[in-house]
Amino acid sequence: MLFLIYEGYSVLDENNFQFKKIKEEWERSLSILRAEIGEATFKSWFKNIQFGQYSDNILTLNVPTRFMRDWIESHYLERILAILSKEVSDIKSIKIEVASLDLNSKKEAQKQQDNKVGVSMKVSESLLDHNSIGAPLDERLSFENFVVGPSNELAYAAARRITERRNVSFNPLFLYGGVGLGKTHLLHAMALEINKNWPERKVLYLSAEKFMYQFIKALRFKDTMAFKQQFRSVDVLMIDDIQFIAGKDSTQEEFFHTFNTLIDHNHQVIISADRSPVDLDGIEERIRSRLGWGLVADIHPSDYELRLGVLQSKAESHLLENSDLTISDNLLEFLAQRIDSNIRVLEGALNRVIAYSSFANRPLSIDMAKEVLKDLIRASQRKTTIDDIQRKVADYYNLRLSDLLSARRSRTIARPRQIAMYLSKILTTRSLPEIGRKFGGRDHTTVIHAVKKIEDLRVGDVAIDEEVEVLRRSLEN
Ligand code: ADP
Ligand code: MG
Repeated sequence: MLFLIYEGYSVLDENNFQFKKIKEEWERSLSILRAEIGEATFKSWFKNIQFGQYSDNILTLNVPTRFMRDWIESHYLERILAILSKEVSDIKSIKIEVASLDLNSKKEAQKQQDNKVGVSMKVSESLLDHNSIGAPLDERLSFENFVVGPSNELAYAAARRITERRNVSFNPLFLYGGVGLGKTHLLHAMALEINKNWPERKVLYLSAEKFMYQFIKALRFKDTMAFKQQFRSVDVLMIDDIQFIAGKDSTQEEFFHTFNTLIDHNHQVIISADRSPVDLDGIEERIRSRLGWGLVADIHPSDYELRLGVLQSKAESHLLENSDLTISDNLLEFLAQRIDSNIRVLEGALNRVIAYSSFANRPLSIDMAKEVLKDLIRASQRKTTIDDIQRKVADYYNLRLSDLLSARRSRTIARPRQIAMYLSKILTTRSLPEIGRKFGGRDHTTVIHAVKKIEDLRVGDVAIDEEVEVLRRSLEN
């Protein structure tokens, strides 16, 4: 009897040990992958991936949506397996599963929704003229004119998916990112494409501001029934800049009903915002949580290559319009390097230089760009600070800033801390004692030690070298 119990425990320990080891190896593989594919792409696809289990030589991972699963399977699975099998020799395959949502919160929201769905009513077709309440589409904001890079790849792929299939893969699609990074462009591109592929489908695009305006108007004219019906009869509803309804309680309430009804009937809803659902302050918790149930895709600030790509594509259309124009690659490279605030500003900069050149009748050159864009260039040439570095490194390694500055010495914190010190040394003009002070009042010898340590590791450890390089590059541009 005793013997049996003993056996049982030993098997358990063995399993535990195995589980921990695989999990560690998996985390290691993730950081190798991160160095390979870059921070932005990594965050897009792997931020929400979770280690499931390892049994029968099969590793199971969990992701929140089918779309993510399909994409990771077709783009990254082989690579992950290759990396992992170097360390875990008995691994045979990797399975990616869609982890179900938190059922309790889903039930709760369903209950609330059941109580609230508005009265449905038959309305004549003429009232359903969706174009009158939507905003016009800009033909130039097409998929063809959208340049894809690591920072917007997830958002782009999700947008494409919605326009390629009639059945709903995820609902809602929630796109978010800073200003001028292409959210509105993607919404228009989707609407244009759906109109093209399925002319019979009703697509309605409008800003949250316009939604509110329509709603208030309907209230004033006691016409809310028609208003509700107009929105609820569309096949695809797109609301741009949803953050606008924060704090506007009755508009929020109305939006939520519309939203629920559409989702319930399996009509596609697409939302954009300048921040993620959880960060939408001033919007009710139940709405925020429901906004995050489909696919949430963020657009990150653009990197150099994407900026250059956008400039090249915009330059091409300028050249088409004006055959006398010559735009050198050097000029485009210069702009992509120096103007990194957002794509709208970048576009504006190119337009400004071109306009100036034709106006002043001078050929385009870097010197001229420097002169014309003085204000923009100065603004982007901000020096990297130790604070920037600390924040970036903490974020990259999923640590709290306070941990990075603390006295804790565990490897998972100490190594990123050393990397941050090293980067502070090479990217800023701060002295060693100053750097030490900024890291929780450490001595300058600690900084010297950190710098030396990372220099050595960069030579001896490819993974670390790559991580440091990724960080350095992202801090530099
Ligand atoms: P947002 O809605 O995120 O504030 P917009 O969609 O209005 O940003 O984009 C700002 C400008 O930048 C638009 O002219 C848009 O066409 C352009 N733009 C943004 N991202 C891209 C991209 N990836 N490729 C081409 N143009 C882009
Ligand atoms: Mg916009």
